[in-house]
Amino acid sequence: MPEVIVAGGGAAGMMAAYAAAEEGKDVLIIEKNKMLGRKVRITGKGRCNVTNSAPPDEMLRFVPRNSRFLISSFKRFNNTDLMNLLENTGLKLKTERGGRVFPQSDKAVDVVNAFMKLLSKERVRVLICDEVREIKVNNGSVCGVTTKKGRTFLTEKVILCTGGKSYPLTGSDGSGYMLAQQLGHSIIAPKPALVPMETKESWAAELQGLSLKNIGIRLKENGKKIYDDFGEMMFTHFGITGPIVLSSSCHIGDTEKNTYSFEIDLKPALDEKQLEERILRDFSESLNKNFENSLSKLYPQKLIPVMVRLSGINPYKKVNSVTREERRKLLKLTKCLAFEIKCLRPIEEAIVTDGGIDTKEINPSTMESRLVKGLYFAGEIIDVAAYTGGYNLQIAFSTGYAAGKSAAKGKE
Ligand SMILES: Cc1cc2nc3c(=O)[nH]c(=O)nc-3n(C[C@H](O)[C@H](O)[C@H](O)COP(=O)(O)OP(=O)(O)OC[C@H]3O[C@@H](n4cnc5c(N)ncnc54)[C@H](O)[C@@H]3O)c2cc1C
Repeated sequence: MPEVIVAGGGAAGMMAAYAAAEEGKDVLIIEKNKMLGRKVRITGKGRCNVTNSAPPDEMLRFVPRNSRFLISSFKRFNNTDLMNLLENTGLKLKTERGGRVFPQSDKAVDVVNAFMKLLSKERVRVLICDEVREIKVNNGSVCGVTTKKGRTFLTEKVILCTGGKSYPLTGSDGSGYMLAQQLGHSIIAPKPALVPMETKESWAAELQGLSLKNIGIRLKENGKKIYDDFGEMMFTHFGITGPIVLSSSCHIGDTEKNTYSFEIDLKPALDEKQLEERILRDFSESLNKNFENSLSKLYPQKLIPVMVRLSGINPYKKVNSVTREERRKLLKLTKCLAFEIKCLRPIEEAIVTDGGIDTKEINPSTMESRLVKGLYFAGEIIDVAAYTGGYNLQIAFSTGYAAGKSAAKGKE
C-alpha cells in the first residue's frame, strides 16, 4: 500500500512525489499519459522557462490572482531552492531578459529528465497510462483511490496534481476538478488566463506575423486603465498574442458586459515633445516624398499602410504639405494605437487556467484540504494564476513541495 499517491505527474506532481519520497515515504505517481511532464516538455516554446530569478519576496507581485495564498509555500520552497535542486542534478541553468530562467541546453525535456533522476533516486513508483477516477473517503479521511483500469490502491494520503483545463491534449482536461467536487470542494469557474485575444478591428489581421518589441501597452476596462506593461507582442490572423498580451489577458473579465480597449504606445521611450521632434526630423529628410513613403524610420514596414490609413492623411500627399494638425494626429496615433478586444481565445489555447479549487478550502501552509483529511492539492488545479516569466511553474513546484512534505509528515 503506497503511503502517498500523487494523481497527475506534471510539474506539481513530480515535485510533490519527490518531496514526499525524500521523507522516506513509499510514493506512487499515477499519470494518465504514457510519460511524465508532458506539458513541461512544451513550456517556453520547448525551452521551459522554469522559474524567474526575481528576489524571492518579489515573486508574488507577478501573481495577480490569490497571491496571498502562496506566501507560505513560496517561503518554504522558493526560486533559489528550485534552481539549487535542479543544478544539483547536473542541470545547468541560465537567466535571460526579465529574469527568465531556462536550462542552458534550451531543452525543456532536460527539466523533466532532472526530475526523473530525483524520482528514481528516491525510488518513487510511477504508474502510467492509467488515471485516477475516484478518491475514496471514509469518515472524512482519504482511504484509497480507484483508477480507470479498475485498480484500487489503499492509501491515507492523496495529492491531487491534475492541472487545469488548458492545452487538454497534454492531459490536463479538468478531470481533477470533478474528483475534488465529488468530495465537496467548490470550483471557481475555470476560465482562460495567459491567452491570446481576438480584436474587433479587422486591420489587426492585416498585420499577421508582425512582432513589436519594446512597446508600451495600456488595457482599459470601460475607459478606465486597469493594466499597463512594457515589452513584446505579436499580431495574428485573429488578433494579438505575445508576452505582454498574455499577461494583460489575466485582467480581462466578461467581454460581453464590459468594453476592453487595448492601446499600444509605439514609442514609449519618447514623450510627445520628443516624438514630435523625431517626426519633424524624419519629415525634413523626405519633404518631397509622398507621405506614405516617409515613415520607414518610424514604423516597421508592415505597419505603415495601417498607420497611414488610421491617420486619415492622404498617402500621396507630399510631406511638405502635411499640416501641423495632421502631424499631431500621427503623433497621437503613435502614442495610442487603440483597438477593442472582442473576446479571449478559448481555454484550450490558454497557457494557464484561471479558477480551480477554491483557495479558502485549502490550508495554505500544508496544501491539505480543509474538508477531507489526507487530501492535498498542488499546481494549476488550485485557483491561482500568474503572469508569464516562469512564475506558473514556480507555483507548481512550490505548492508541490509543500504538499509533498506535508503529506509525508502528516499533521504539521
Ligand atoms: C504552451 C505552454 C507553455 C507554457 N510555458 C510555461 C513556461 O515557460 N513557464 C511557466 O512558468 N509556465 C509555463 N506554462 C504553464 C505551466 O506549464 C503550468 O502552469 C504547469 O505545467 C502546471 O503544472 P501542474 O503540474 O499543475 O499541471 P500539468 O503540468 O498540466 O500536469 C497535470 C498532469 O496530470 C495528469 N492528469 C490529469 N488528470 C489525471 C487523472 N485523473 N489521473 C492521472 N493523471 C491525470 C495530466 O496528464 C498531466 O500530466 C506553459 C503552459 C503551456 C500550455
